[in-house]
Amino acid sequence: DVVNFIAYFDRIIDRFEMTKEQHVSFVRLLPSEAIYIDMDQDKITQVLDNIISNALKYSPEGGKITFQVKVLENTIKVSVRDEGVGIPKENINQIFERFYRVDKARTRKLGGTGLGLAIAKEMVVAHGGEIWATSKDGVGTTIFFTLPIENVEVEQEDDWL
Ligand code: ATP
Ligand code: MG
Repeated sequence: DVVNFIAYFDRIIDRFEMTKEQHVSFVRLLPSEAIYIDMDQDKITQVLDNIISNALKYSPEGGKITFQVKVLENTIKVSVRDEGVGIPKENINQIFERFYRVDKARTRKLGGTGLGLAIAKEMVVAHGGEIWATSKDGVGTTIFFTLPIENVEVEQEDDWL
């Protein structure tokens, strides 16, 4: 379905902001205009649920999570940045592999199976997008993904008549 991604993302963030139990502040850097994306809403909701719950899970008390949407030429770039424990450089690509978890001892008490980002990657790729992460150990993590923008149908001229 074609949805206005900005209003949709705003509602997802609202849901997390209303239910979060930690003192983590949310910052939204979203365009003011509507941006239409052709997507399976349930699947992209699963992607965002995992990315945002990871950000909360690995955030310290008093941390900040920044939600941003940037409009590129034919895609949007969505990012979720936290001020959490971070991910060592050498493990940054492995977090999208099934069952991969950075530090077994560290993450065991936080729960989870290590499947969330592998599923997120599958769904983003199925939508024609990409997903990646940047991080600095001890400073924080940003997860990025892109989705193609729905092209407005242009009426073809009947110049072949
Ligand atoms: P699940 O999502 O299945 O409940 P999970 O959260 O451990 O379990 P993923 O979401 O796939 O699994 O993440 C994989 C691993 O990547 C995590 O276990 C964690 O080590 C690391 N990771 C993911 N997001 C962050 C983050 N925002 N900050 C620090 N580490 C992260
Ligand atoms: Mg997860």
